[in-house]
Amino acid sequence: MSLARPIPRWEAPTPQDVGPTVEDFLVKLGEPTFLWLPGLDVTRTRAVSTLLHGNEPSGVRALHRWIKEGQQPQVNLLCFIGSIEAALTPPLFSHRCAPEGKDLNRCFRSPFDGPEGAIAQVMLEELHRAQPECLIDLHNTSGQSPAYGVSTLNREIQETLTGIFCDHLIVTDLRLGTLMEATEYDWPTVTIEAGGANDPQADELAFRGFTRYALAKDFSDFPSSVTVVHHPIRVELQKDATVAYGYAPVPGVDLTLPPDADRLNFGLWSQQETLGWVGKRGLEVLWAKNAMGQNLSSAIFSVQNGELRLAFPSRLMMVTTNAEIAKSDCLFYILPDS
Ligand SMILES: [Zn+2]
Repeated sequence: MSLARPIPRWEAPTPQDVGPTVEDFLVKLGEPTFLWLPGLDVTRTRAVSTLLHGNEPSGVRALHRWIKEGQQPQVNLLCFIGSIEAALTPPLFSHRCAPEGKDLNRCFRSPFDGPEGAIAQVMLEELHRAQPECLIDLHNTSGQSPAYGVSTLNREIQETLTGIFCDHLIVTDLRLGTLMEATEYDWPTVTIEAGGANDPQADELAFRGFTRYALAKDFSDFPSSVTVVHHPIRVELQKDATVAYGYAPVPGVDLTLPPDADRLNFGLWSQQETLGWVGKRGLEVLWAKNAMGQNLSSAIFSVQNGELRLAFPSRLMMVTTNAEIAKSDCLFYILPDS
């Protein structure tokens, strides 16, 4: 048991409890909170996590809408709402983490340091007490993107859970300290990236998926026709490097990407297309990391007259057009076309 203080838990919230808007709801919650929604069958429980990132609202919007509509789930739902302080830091839903805070979805591993580590540890303890059948962690991408699932294990159940929401599953062996990694062997866990954070279609997809997940007696009615892709390469910017967005190289900047670089999320890029432009330091500013932590940037990129290109046709995913996220988290993921 940790010595950190417990996470508040709301039992069976009513439509009145949650308030008319999702902002009212978050203000009422005030801090990371569990919601317990009793099912028609009270002997079973599923779990949902939302808002681990304060700028990814589709999951908490789905949960708020579900409660407002007064629906009852088939089995108990244990729902977690994470980065409420970050979400409420003005403007609403624009901050991934609280000011001066750490990325909560990188803190689900020991030593569970700092306030975010304490929240992660206590959250895991509560999940273990509830012993859910499965866990869905709802996120948004920061750029425009089709929806997809992410899992660390590739078994039938991960594909089925993904198929409740969308039709692509990415299986990754990267280890970052996410919630999914902490529970993958305890119960089936899938992260759902519902699509772009400000895209109403992503909110709708999250709500429809949440509804199917909550109402299903079991998941045998969801035949899986999910396309599975394996082991994307995570491309980060070196710590001291600079990034800017523009349609031509920005002088003095280490990497310039087009402001609409997210337009080809999941699209196939050829070696002839220009991804962006590197400065004087060339490829040295990029860190293309595989699961062994090796830097593959010189193998997967080429540079011609400062133009950054791919060495092989590849798909790009999770391309961000937010310089802050590009610097603090990652630029994009690459899936070599096979
Ligand atoms: Zn996220």
